[in-house]
Amino acid sequence: MTDQPLSCFDFIEPGADPFLRLEEAVERILLSVQQPPAIEVIDLSSAHQRVLASDVVSPMNVPPHRNSAMDGYAVKGSDLGQREHWIVQGTVLAGQAPSSVLQSGHAFKITTGAPMPDGADTVVMKEVCQLNGETLIIPLAKQPTSGSNVRQAGEDIQEGRCLLRAGQRLSSVQIGLLASLGFAQITVYKPVKVAVFSTGDEVHAPGQILSPGGIYDTNRFTLLSSLRSLGCDVLDMGILPDDLPLLTDALAAAQHSATLVLTSGGVSVGEADYVKQAVSALGEIGFWQLAIRPGRPLAFGRLLSETSPADCLFAGLPGNPVASLVTLMLVIQPLIRRLQGEQDWQGLTLSAKAGEPMKSRLGRSDFHRGVLSFDRQGQAQVVTTGRQGSGILTSMHQGNCLIRLHDTQAQVNQGELVTVYPFSTWLPGWQSTHFIEGN
Ligand code: AMP
Ligand code: MG
Repeated sequence: MTDQPLSCFDFIEPGADPFLRLEEAVERILLSVQQPPAIEVIDLSSAHQRVLASDVVSPMNVPPHRNSAMDGYAVKGSDLGQREHWIVQGTVLAGQAPSSVLQSGHAFKITTGAPMPDGADTVVMKEVCQLNGETLIIPLAKQPTSGSNVRQAGEDIQEGRCLLRAGQRLSSVQIGLLASLGFAQITVYKPVKVAVFSTGDEVHAPGQILSPGGIYDTNRFTLLSSLRSLGCDVLDMGILPDDLPLLTDALAAAQHSATLVLTSGGVSVGEADYVKQAVSALGEIGFWQLAIRPGRPLAFGRLLSETSPADCLFAGLPGNPVASLVTLMLVIQPLIRRLQGEQDWQGLTLSAKAGEPMKSRLGRSDFHRGVLSFDRQGQAQVVTTGRQGSGILTSMHQGNCLIRLHDTQAQVNQGELVTVYPFSTWLPGWQSTHFIEGN
């Protein structure tokens, strides 16, 4: 254990507001990340969603050589406007080196991406040229200006430029940049291992026959999918019954294989809510009432170990499916990104006009599920997806964003501005299947 202040595990002091604001909870949780992640060298082909562990300085120019942007003829710009006939001196295809220096009054046949011959500075597109034996004809009216259709060496990336910084998450664009520089391997942070449990005597795995009062497990699937999309190394730990000794044993076993253990359910004040007790027995825990809806109860702590070099973090998410997914998006996602070594992640929010009146409560942020659209003038507007219970997962399927009614907003009238959290940035792996029409 370290001597870092344990403010993130503190209970709220007696007499203080028992409800913690979202931003304060995230700040406290981020305090628990004390060590930089370990690093490893991997093949570029497996780098999707990994986070760079060192700056990348370009070892070369991209493109490496001056080349043609068109299929056509490479000429001297100084010949343009002076003549309509050229002699074809040779051909240069992509991947070849030009055989000679271009002479005045001559042209090289050239393909897109082929290196420009020395002496040539302009490419005339094939479509405006006529070939008559060895003679090339380019009508004066169709001749381009000198320097056209040539890509300069290093015009995309210059040798020696710091292109990507440590802490950058890698997706197709950054992986393409690294590939264009010839990197076969890169140094990244090791993936974060996250173990996920569902809890509850009523919760059944898919494929099982439901007992009376039973429900199927939703949360393990929403949470695991989101975590995979964030590039975590996930451990599916199944379902735990509402039984203190079994919960304690299972969490004790999981702490050795994961950096973070997530559970859902069993963290409220119900009779069968044993998760907090199990975590207290294994380490330390803070239990918070977050001033958000859905997602009010959240337990956060640490599972301590005498045998492991690092302690394992623990988060107990609420059981209702919308509440557990919303707390993953808003509270656990920043933690995971920080554990992965990503620097200063901030999800995009925007302002949109409320398309209908909406209600909240002072002192609490309500996150309604909404449908965001843009009218013909480009003005964003948003309506709710209808019924908003924290167990109604279809409310998320029908929407494309969360609408935040802030702590200071008891209600919002139609036409007032609200803050919107688009799923495209906040819900890991979200793909829109809806075409949202403007009006
Ligand atoms: P709890 O906090 O354990 O009382 O759970 C709150 C609500 O969420 C209850 O209605 C549970 O049945 C439900 N719930 C808990 N875990 C899951 C799960 N994994 N999938 C679907 N619903 C759940
Ligand atoms: Mg339960």
